[in-house]
Amino acid sequence: MTYNEKLLDRAKRHPEKQKNPDRKAGTKPDWIKVKAPSPTGVYEDTRQIARKLNLTTVCEEAGCPNIGECWAKSHATFMIMGEICTRACSFCNVATGKPDALDVWEPTRVAKAVKEMGLNHVVVTSVDRDDLKDGGAAHFVKTIEEIRRLAPNTTVEILPGDFRGDWDAVDMVTRAKPDVFNHNLETVPALYPTVRPGARYFRSLRLLERVKEVDASIFTKSGLMVGLGETNEQVGQVMDDMRAANIDFITIGQYLQPTPKHAPLDRYVTPEEFQKFEKMAYAKGFLMVSSSPLTRSSHHAGEDFARLKTARETKLAKA
Ligand code: SF4
Repeated sequence: MTYNEKLLDRAKRHPEKQKNPDRKAGTKPDWIKVKAPSPTGVYEDTRQIARKLNLTTVCEEAGCPNIGECWAKSHATFMIMGEICTRACSFCNVATGKPDALDVWEPTRVAKAVKEMGLNHVVVTSVDRDDLKDGGAAHFVKTIEEIRRLAPNTTVEILPGDFRGDWDAVDMVTRAKPDVFNHNLETVPALYPTVRPGARYFRSLRLLERVKEVDASIFTKSGLMVGLGETNEQVGQVMDDMRAANIDFITIGQYLQPTPKHAPLDRYVTPEEFQKFEKMAYAKGFLMVSSSPLTRSSHHAGEDFARLKTARETKLAKA
């Protein structure tokens, strides 16, 4: 089976979702349509490096709409600790099931890819590994260390799960000093039971607050999907909660339903509404805001990191 055939094998990827009725999302508005990626040039180089080093990317696993743009700029988000997640969030296209054992050489291969691709900034995410005692914290630490060793000038952004609220695990990862600690709240608390049933809203919020308490120099970042049935007031409340937890950077993007068995799409939020969210978020005190239909946690992460640093310096200079 080829890599693409494997990605399309829906029943095997999401056995727990097969009992759901089909809920079709309807036609995408023009503002959400993107050009199909062209498998040539830098895009193809990115794909080849990932294949050669046997690495998984969330770009492919999650069916991200930005893959054509990102890979053509040699920007990919690596997904460590396997391709199979122990959770079964209803919005997510990553396969669910019993994961394989950890690959101890994976951190070095990620670092080799970062070096070979000449990345200024890398984003590393993972599947949730609730089967591991530390939730995969030590593997994250090793990956950060290997990137520092082989590509010392690359800044590192991590996007882990919630480690089930194991604060020792969170602290261990924080002390490895990623430049950005990103952890997505994904949706408003009222939708957690249906959208993110294995997670807890306040646990995720507390995780981000704790990162800042342990090391205030690390930027914290979190993202929300909209179009799942939340109200704009609920989005505003999440922004307030994030600011109370000292989160620096918020990303807001349109939820896109990966298959008819996934959480139903409630609506396509217009570009004008995204602009209103952006204005509202800046007014609430975020250092950085990215709010648009195609915003994803790791979209333009390198450029955004540079802007984030400048925004902090400007704020400190004014203080
Ligand atoms: S936005 Fe992130 S996940 Fe999507 S293609 Fe770009 S790097 Fe990959």
